[in-house]
Amino acid sequence: MSIVVRQVSKLYGEQKALDNVSFEVKTGEIVAFLGPNGAGKSTMMKIITGFIPASSGSVFVNGIETTTDNKEIREHIGYLPENNPLYPEMYVREYLGFAALFYKNGISFKKQIDHIIEVTGLAPEQKKKIGSLSKGYRQRVGLAQALIHNPDILILDEATTGLDPNQIVEIRNLIKDAGKEKTIMFSTHIMQEAEAVCDRIIIINNGRIMADELKGNIYSIIKRQLQVVHVGFDKEPAEADLLSIANVVKVQKLEKDQWLIEAEGEKDIRPDIFSFAVANDLTVLSLQKEESNLEEVFRHLTNR
Ligand code: ADP
Ligand code: MG
Repeated sequence: MSIVVRQVSKLYGEQKALDNVSFEVKTGEIVAFLGPNGAGKSTMMKIITGFIPASSGSVFVNGIETTTDNKEIREHIGYLPENNPLYPEMYVREYLGFAALFYKNGISFKKQIDHIIEVTGLAPEQKKKIGSLSKGYRQRVGLAQALIHNPDILILDEATTGLDPNQIVEIRNLIKDAGKEKTIMFSTHIMQEAEAVCDRIIIINNGRIMADELKGNIYSIIKRQLQVVHVGFDKEPAEADLLSIANVVKVQKLEKDQWLIEAEGEKDIRPDIFSFAVANDLTVLSLQKEESNLEEVFRHLTNR
């Protein structure tokens, strides 16, 4: 029950929303698709689910190539689109029955609907109109809709965006529970969200994959990709001179003679800072390498 994305690009007119994107999601994984707004997350998900075509490249779901007219694919995929479009005039149970009609697998409707209402915690609200539900419950209806045909794969586009902290925890728990049996790809623009729910994080920016790592490894790629050094000099160096040190990508003045220096790459930047000081007749009074956190890496990877 895997997803394989091979060299997918997508153009909207002149604009390239996806640029040669490749990745795989293996059976049983929960993968976060993390990137800032406009990165291409929703576009990628619409292509995987067969709602829009790629401009080039291909996507395979369980080994079957996704196309916009392939209904077979949709039997395997549950999809919660961004902004969770629902029919506010429909009743919860009625809507889920309606959603089930689109699938062959939803056949034993009543039993399946009862089951899904149970697992998504919708029982107390099932007789209400969708429009009268809180945002958290509406999101549960969206999840129930995605689960109704018992798909192997769930594609969840910003499933917790706009919810309050309690609702976020509840929806995350539902996702984690579903993830015990299913392959899940969920998009988010929030670091902590990715960290809280997933096994693996794929970072996308400007339509390109910037990182694809197991959650436990993402800290080491951070170290490979970004070093943050806090340095104090006895005199004021020129900012432009600091920026000329090899691999330095950003400098920030903190207080008098104190600087935060960000450098790319694996090679320790500290000897270069000493050499720089010597060459510029400065003395290094303090030098400390900071542990960069996921937030910084994310900013770094998505700010260029
Ligand atoms: P994300 O979900 O990561 O916020 P999207 O996939 O929605 O990103 O959008 C990626 C880029 O493609 C954005 O620059 C967006 O403006 C553009 N885009 C998305 N959908 C369309 C569309 N239907 N027509 C034109 N441009 C679009
Ligand atoms: Mg989106």
